[in-house]
Amino acid sequence: SFKKSLGQNFIVEPNILHRMIERAGVTEETGVIEIGPGIGALTEQLAKNAKKVIAFEVDGRLLPILEENLAPYSNIEIIYQDVLKANLHEIIEKKLNNCREVMVVANLPYYITTPIIMKLLENRLPLKAIVVMLQKEVAERMTAKPSTKDYGSLSIAVQYYTEAKTVMSVPKTVFIPQPNVDSSVIRLDLRPEPLIHVKNEAFFFQVVKASFAQRRKTLLNNLLNNLPNGKANKNIIEECLTSAGIDGKRRGESLTIEEFALLSDRLYEIFK
Ligand code: SAM
Repeated sequence: SFKKSLGQNFIVEPNILHRMIERAGVTEETGVIEIGPGIGALTEQLAKNAKKVIAFEVDGRLLPILEENLAPYSNIEIIYQDVLKANLHEIIEKKLNNCREVMVVANLPYYITTPIIMKLLENRLPLKAIVVMLQKEVAERMTAKPSTKDYGSLSIAVQYYTEAKTVMSVPKTVFIPQPNVDSSVIRLDLRPEPLIHVKNEAFFFQVVKASFAQRRKTLLNNLLNNLPNGKANKNIIEECLTSAGIDGKRRGESLTIEEFALLSDRLYEIFK
């Protein structure tokens, strides 16, 4: 029986799995972290192509099925743990240290797509790329460019750390049971350094979040109402906007990541 609450929608179309692995560029030198192997369909294909596969599965009921389905492979290790609680740095260091590169390749549990991706990025794991299946709508937000309806703080967070692109569209019909939404596979290539240097990363993300708090409001109003510190007043914020060369009447959604960086550096001088 499937557990809907754990996002258990299994892929039954082998072609999709092959294409995913091809888009990831997995080789016999690659160490792979898989999140949510389910009954092991992707895990098996990964094992055939990669040096080693470490898979995290939270549902212990799947243990006998996984053991049986994956018995022929000696390069797979399943860890029965919530991936959000795992120490991935340690896993990579201890178990994938003999691989030339490490990638995450997975069909994600959709109820925690964003927390998983943010954990992988914020932890600064030594990953070459993350190639994952997720909700089409979330893929669109992660890859969105400025001045589009999907552009927001998630786009900025993901693109700050990675070069993000959609590499496949996946119809509902390849899953059992069928999910309610369409899916995509995205490829995130991790940048050696973040896209831009900012004086304070946490503050940069606070400014981004504040700027998108109410999408219909101007940048000036959003900053005024949503910066997390009583020092915000109209004059100071206008001054920072002017010195960053940004018109306060614009909407947050029109700013590039570089503009957010410039603005947050100016504001940080006052708010720090
Ligand atoms: N990879 C399989 C496939 O493509 O057919 C199944 C993917 S299914 C969408 C998501 C899987 O993630 C399920 O097996 C579910 O039990 C597992 N899962 C859910 N929450 C998890 C968590 N916090 N940590 C690890 N695995 C989790």
